[in-house]
Amino acid sequence: MTVPTPPVVTIMIVNCQPEPAGAIQPWLGRYSIHREAECSAAIAALPRVLPTLIMIDVSLPEKRELEVCKAVRENTALGFVPVIAVVGPEPGMIDAALDAGADDVLVRPIQEGETLARIGVLLRMKRRIDGLRQENQTLTREVEKRDQEIKRAQTASQEVSVLKDSIVRNVSHELRTPLLQVKSSVAMLADDARAAAPNGVSVLADMAIASTARLESVVQNITQLAASLNVKSEPFKLMDAIQFAIRQMGRQWASSGGVERVRFPTQELPLVMGDRGGISQVLQQLLDNAIKFSPAGGLVEVLAERRDNAITVSVRDYGIGIPEDQRDRIFQAFYQVDSSATRSFGGTGVGLAIVKLLIDTMGLTIHVDSKPGAGSTFSFSLPIAELDDIPLDRAQTVV
Ligand code: ADP
Repeated sequence: MTVPTPPVVTIMIVNCQPEPAGAIQPWLGRYSIHREAECSAAIAALPRVLPTLIMIDVSLPEKRELEVCKAVRENTALGFVPVIAVVGPEPGMIDAALDAGADDVLVRPIQEGETLARIGVLLRMKRRIDGLRQENQTLTREVEKRDQEIKRAQTASQEVSVLKDSIVRNVSHELRTPLLQVKSSVAMLADDARAAAPNGVSVLADMAIASTARLESVVQNITQLAASLNVKSEPFKLMDAIQFAIRQMGRQWASSGGVERVRFPTQELPLVMGDRGGISQVLQQLLDNAIKFSPAGGLVEVLAERRDNAITVSVRDYGIGIPEDQRDRIFQAFYQVDSSATRSFGGTGVGLAIVKLLIDTMGLTIHVDSKPGAGSTFSFSLPIAELDDIPLDRAQTVV
């Protein structure tokens, strides 16, 4: 086993006229000694010698040796080098040495024991400071490395987000036109088939029409997904988002009177913070499900309730409900509680996945409360806009 050799401690003695002559050097036998008899030579030697500690002997009247002290403090590349100034008993000498940056002062005549004790203390202090400095450098390097990693990850994530955005937009755009053509062609073919055999069964034509409708709803979902990728947060009137969602629903449910079943709040509500379009999409999807999964004529309610500094928005139905063990899974894409061929409800199973994506992107949380056979309530909370959030021209809308 090899015993580690302790690092060499070099003490630089500057102009130290032996005090008593020649006495100091033998005291320092365990250290490597470098002597400089002249101040400017000592300053020039600093980067080469790299002393561990410096002892300067301050002589009157110029006290030029104190310049070494200043030079050591200014040269940050040397790290921390403790300086002991040896001064005479004249008044003001201790202050002059401390002002110049000395770490300790010994007054002549100096004693061996005290000198060695002071050197020992300063060397321990240096070791501690050097250790801390090294730790600090390692930490700084680590922080810089992490910083670079975060920047790289951010750039990569921005690139992926732009790419995803453009893929989703292009796909939805490219699908819509041919789908429209297929839809009208299928409708015409179905009319022809019915005209050719008025009493015949046009099962294939009906299947084609149903499949086209299903495909159309998938494309609509992809389009919603494209919109959900860019959400912003600004003050808006909740009623605007609710009414917009209901208007959109109107088209889909016009023939079955689904929209007439929806009750919504009539009271004045404060402005809330969020993405109006995103919230409207969420409500549209929740309302669509509420109407779809409740019996014809069953009531569907949109509720808005103030709780502290937020408004909790809920969509409630009194329909089939969702079994407890399925409540988390319904937010997974393509998951449907009843996925059997005999399933009587339309849909693709991505509506709630989009809801979840939108809710997450907006930094919100959605809750489901449901009882099989009794109905379901989906709710989320929006923060009420603070006065600072609201542009001056809209501030009077706050209640
Ligand atoms: P889908 O297109 O099937 O409606 P969603 O993602 O919107 O797809 O919903 C996933 C599943 O969650 C539905 O198929 C249904 O089983 C269940 N679900 C969603 N909303 C309700 C609701 N209000 N009442 C009962 N079941 C619901």
